Amino acid sequence: MRLKLALVLLAFAPLSHAAARALDIYFIDVEGGQSTLLVTPERQSFLIDTGFADSAARIVAAARDAGVKQIDYLMITHFHPDHDGGVVELSKVLPIQHFIDHETVLPGALRDAGTKAAYERYLEVRKSHPHIEPKPGDRLPLTGIDVKVVSSAAAVLTKPLEGAGATNAGCGASAVPPRDPLENPRSTGVVVSLGKFRFLDVGDLSGQPLFDLACPKSLIGPVDVYLVAHHGGPDVAAPALFAAFKPRVAIMNNGLKKGGAKNTYETLHHVDGLADVWQVHKSADAAEQNFADDSIANLDESTSHWIKISAHADGSFQVVNGRTGQAKTYPP
Ligand SMILES: [Zn+2]
Repeated sequence: MRLKLALVLLAFAPLSHAAARALDIYFIDVEGGQSTLLVTPERQSFLIDTGFADSAARIVAAARDAGVKQIDYLMITHFHPDHDGGVVELSKVLPIQHFIDHETVLPGALRDAGTKAAYERYLEVRKSHPHIEPKPGDRLPLTGIDVKVVSSAAAVLTKPLEGAGATNAGCGASAVPPRDPLENPRSTGVVVSLGKFRFLDVGDLSGQPLFDLACPKSLIGPVDVYLVAHHGGPDVAAPALFAAFKPRVAIMNNGLKKGGAKNTYETLHHVDGLADVWQVHKSADAAEQNFADDSIANLDESTSHWIKISAHADGSFQVVNGRTGQAKTYPP
């Protein structure tokens, strides 16, 4: 709250010599949790979630690959141990400068012992650092990229982002009920832009707030890359969501046996304009609906490869499968 003015006043820093450098995004394999490391053209690091308690080494490996020695901004989308669990261990090996989250957990969610324990450990780490509690519509203070908050604490944007607002013909009458009605719908979500390139990450947003971003009008507009909400669980499969966000590429961060619901994969095979789906993991549940092995970073639980995207201001980007080293380039 204290930093709200700073958020409002934030302006783009000039890109200067960094203009040609890419925005790198690592979708780190944390076995069905979430941890996504973004490194800006100016080499600021922005980590979205920290996976489970044992995920720190995998995050450090991605940070090393990117050449960053600290986390400038850590955003925790919501307070579940597959997202905030890795904070304690990570903070011991990589300094974390600023924390971003939606602050509170509903009393009902804290009845879950794992959620409560991870939240309390997280607060211990956070308490001695600057903390930002953004509202939908706020801009996060990274430089060289534009990070716009689209959801937080069950609230969402009240007006469309620039260039968005088209009526979504695919909308049903109501939202699909969320698997978890307490904390997932409170996920803090962002649209990250570098020039024409746009990436949507809403954590485990589901239920009414996710529906409200997509229906009856798309408040987000078309994106290049969509990290499918809630690990591609069964409550985020509605075709209207994909019609609203119009991704060119979708990333599935399911584990072998977590998220990655069959109905979501079935939807993904029929999304207009979707060029490819890249999977951090093969999904046991999706069976024959999995995409080709070439687009999957981990075929079982014995490896921990990432999917890496390098994006440019003209809207072009490259996706690399960390397992095979193979790359695919998408034009502006
Ligand atoms: Zn999750």
